Amino acid sequence: MTLHFISGTFHPGLNITVRRGLEWFRKGLIPGQTISLCVCPPGQDHTVVGQARVAFVMAAQIETIPDELMKYEHEPSCRTKEGLLAAMSRVLGEVRADEIVTVIGFEM
Ligand SMILES: [Zn+2]
Repeated sequence: MTLHFISGTFHPGLNITVRRGLEWFRKGLIPGQTISLCVCPPGQDHTVVGQARVAFVMAAQIETIPDELMKYEHEPSCRTKEGLLAAMSRVLGEVRADEIVTVIGFEM
C-alpha cells in the first residue's frame, strides 16, 4: 500500500500523518505492515521515496489527538492543531477541529 504526501519531510523513528475521514482507517492497515511513501505535491509526479513500517492506525477527532502524539507529525508546520488545520484546509477546503480523521503512525 502507498501513502501519498504533499510534503516529503520525514524524521527517523516514529512519524504520524493525519488523513481526513475514515478511508484510511477502513483499509485495514496492520501494525508491522510495510507501506511505501510517495511524495507528490499538486501538479507533480508521484515519487516513491522509501518504505516504512505501520506503527498504529487510530480514528479520532482532530481536537482530541493528544499533543504528545502531534509532536511526531512528519511535517513540522503541522505539529500544532492550528498548523495542522491550516495545512489540511489549504489542500482540502475547510477542515474543522471536530472532524473525524485517521492518524497513521509509521516508523522510518
Ligand atoms: Zn503519490
